[in-house]
Amino acid sequence: MSREDEYDAIVIGAGIIGLSCAYYLTKTGKRVLVLERNYAGSGTSGACDEMILLQSKTPGLSLEMAFVSLDIYRSLQAELGEDLEFETRGGMIIIEKAEHLSIMKDFVAKQKSFGLNVEILSKKEAKAKQPFVSDSVVASTYSPDDSQVNPLRVMFALLRAGTRADMAFKRRSEVTSVAKTAWGSWKVTTAEGGPYFSDVVVNAAGVWAPRVASLVDLPLPIEPKRGQIVVTEPIHPFGETNVWDSEYIVSKLIPDLPRDERAERLGLGFALSRTCNGNYLIGSTREYVGFDKGTTHEAIEAISAKAVSLFPALANVRIIRSFSGLRPACRDGKCVLGEDPQNPGFFVAAGHEGDGIALAPVTGKLLADLVCGRKAELDIAELSPARFRKAEAMTRHLN
Ligand SMILES: Cc1cc2nc3c(=O)[nH]c(=O)nc-3n(C[C@H](O)[C@H](O)[C@H](O)COP(=O)(O)OP(=O)(O)OC[C@H]3O[C@@H](n4cnc5c(N)ncnc54)[C@H](O)[C@@H]3O)c2cc1C
Repeated sequence: MSREDEYDAIVIGAGIIGLSCAYYLTKTGKRVLVLERNYAGSGTSGACDEMILLQSKTPGLSLEMAFVSLDIYRSLQAELGEDLEFETRGGMIIIEKAEHLSIMKDFVAKQKSFGLNVEILSKKEAKAKQPFVSDSVVASTYSPDDSQVNPLRVMFALLRAGTRADMAFKRRSEVTSVAKTAWGSWKVTTAEGGPYFSDVVVNAAGVWAPRVASLVDLPLPIEPKRGQIVVTEPIHPFGETNVWDSEYIVSKLIPDLPRDERAERLGLGFALSRTCNGNYLIGSTREYVGFDKGTTHEAIEAISAKAVSLFPALANVRIIRSFSGLRPACRDGKCVLGEDPQNPGFFVAAGHEGDGIALAPVTGKLLADLVCGRKAELDIAELSPARFRKAEAMTRHLN
């Protein structure tokens, strides 16, 4: 075994989560190897929106993590020395249905008491910020803190900063085996090469994390949840903020509330954001269709119809393309971050569903704290993969 094969930590997956973990581990002085099956950003982090959205988070750990992450993002651009297209433009959740108003008021009050800078705007105030929004709007929420960043720029900046500091990166390297050696470290083999040795392995393989976890018999209930997005031609900016509608938030808070059949089936939650180049990204669906990354005429039509009903002026704007990505959705709605109690040194950082861009910096930082045995800034015990070991043991006991 030569020094080239030995690392302090091996990170599996070069999406935004894996690269953030690798970067923060490298910052602690560890020698890190990132193994990526394809190329950096080839998974979900290269096929998504770009929101650092605080308003969608329920008060609790997920909102706390979003606060910390946003703080990190505010200085990350300077730290990495690259333009990440980070911008704090604010966000609005448009309320179109009168019956949503009291639900959203309640939600906003809870978020506010948790420290989020958010308020309810009247119809007139909402129209002042979004002059082109339909007259059907009843009210809106507004948070000046909702931000955005270009995920591709973040990933490549993390990769460049990491490699400048001795991080190794191997693309086209699919991990096929993870096993303990006789002397207690991990032996990681890829289809293309290796083996590589390390005391620490981080599974950051996104929707494929369950397959990697199965190599050490860890059950990980993460499933792909497809999101389709349409992209418009570049146009002049309209409206101050990025926009969502209350339908999806309300449907999560009160699942029994009746919804349009197609919106329900596609899991449609409207989101509209402007990229730095002037293209608008309009989404998106939430569909369980396995690993199918196709787009469908029905979804593109439903997204476009919703966009035009909320912003009638969009009827004259051309769609130039569509794409879809697979959100890594964990069964209990929480991401997975921690060490497998049955496999010391095997960590998981995955399952961030629709929040991975927003939560990448805090995830990387917390993971590095865990690996180094440092006291973490937040109590993340509830995110540990140990919860699936317990569930598995309970099922065995009941059977
Ligand atoms: C339509 C859509 C919109 C979204 N919008 C937002 C948003 O606005 N804000 C937000 O915060 N989040 C958003 N998300 C969610 C966000 O994109 C994801 O949470 C995030 O990208 C997940 O990152 P990841 O690094 O865990 O996974 P990935 O980016 O998928 O990275 C995993 C990597 O692991 C690699 N890999 C897999 N198996 C192996 C193996 N055996 N060996 C080596 N490598 C392997 C893969 O090739 C891949 O590159 C959105 C998602 C979608 C689909």
